[in-house]
Amino acid sequence: MLRTVSIPTDLDPQRFLPLLKQCAEIFNAHVDWALEQHTFNKSRAHKALYHQLRQAYPEIPSAFLQAVRDTALEAVKATKFARVPRKKPTSGLRYDRRTLTLRGQQLTLSCIGARAKTSLRIPEYFQAIFATWTFKGATLTYKRPKRQLWLQLVFESPTPEPRPSQQIQGIDRGLYHLAVTSDGQTYSNAQVRAVQRRYLHNRRTLQAKGTRSAKRRLRAMSGREQRFSRDVNHVVSKRLAQQEQVTTFVLEDLSGIRNQQRGRKMNKRLGSWPFHQFEFFLGYKAEALGKTVAFVDARYTSQRCSQCGHLYKGNRHKSHFHCARCGFQSHADVNAAINIRNSYLLSTAPLATVEQAAVSQPNATGADLVASRRACPGGN
Ligand SMILES: [Zn+2]
Repeated sequence: MLRTVSIPTDLDPQRFLPLLKQCAEIFNAHVDWALEQHTFNKSRAHKALYHQLRQAYPEIPSAFLQAVRDTALEAVKATKFARVPRKKPTSGLRYDRRTLTLRGQQLTLSCIGARAKTSLRIPEYFQAIFATWTFKGATLTYKRPKRQLWLQLVFESPTPEPRPSQQIQGIDRGLYHLAVTSDGQTYSNAQVRAVQRRYLHNRRTLQAKGTRSAKRRLRAMSGREQRFSRDVNHVVSKRLAQQEQVTTFVLEDLSGIRNQQRGRKMNKRLGSWPFHQFEFFLGYKAEALGKTVAFVDARYTSQRCSQCGHLYKGNRHKSHFHCARCGFQSHADVNAAINIRNSYLLSTAPLATVEQAAVSQPNATGADLVASRRACPGGN
């Protein structure tokens, strides 16, 4: 599995821009040749162009001539002659193990003239990758706004870790359901609510009486109510914890949040003891079985589409979820549970972090290949 990490460098652009420019010209020369000859054969390109280009660009290290040739012919091959891959003078340049060495943070790059050396400042969240993954190559790109050179380093993971999807289960907890899982199981809260309602009614009557015996009965009743909801919490958390295929349970982190989107009743439930008791029970039952309970940010789990990510309040109609963008339909709490599971996957996978970080930087390699329609040479 390959991953790209983008890092800014303090390399001097004045040294590298002439290299980038000349390599772009070499790239374009290969593309022109390939389209004219209608081939992307590398050794034929080498025979036809190498000596001529060597003379035209005497300062360019020959390793680059070959690397650029390969990049150009691969680009032509990828577009199957339908387009003309082009590089601009500041387009990114691919480095390989011959033109770049990386030892820890020490980086050495081929350039025109002497090799350039610098030390990379590797952000903490990338350090594990630098330490354990295999370095495959890099692309040097120039970011004009800041006049800065960036490196996009490509790493290969030592062992792709398979993570069967069913091992991680998202659990949503609502007003009407004690728990709903990302794979669609629902544990109703109806019984508990019925008991609560009954006790609430009796309590009001007894409180109104205010006699000594009424107070005694109130105490006994509140004990029974608590025991009942505790029993339900025990049963449900035990059944969840014992699911054989699940090793990680993901819940919303609701500590300290009283979210407006949840409504008054739900906020009351969020603050209730049985609600937290469930978390506590599931936690220790899971732990006893060598499993874990994780918590994720609770925002928008009920409004976001779990399939396409569309975030829209109108997606949810009470207990039904219907995405206005992609049309996905499901029980609203199941959709929320899938979101909970997804945000856990996103937050734990180092790969996802890297991808996001890389994506947040404009990817110069892709954008550089300015594709245009193939011009008909000579109008034939
Ligand atoms: Zn959707």
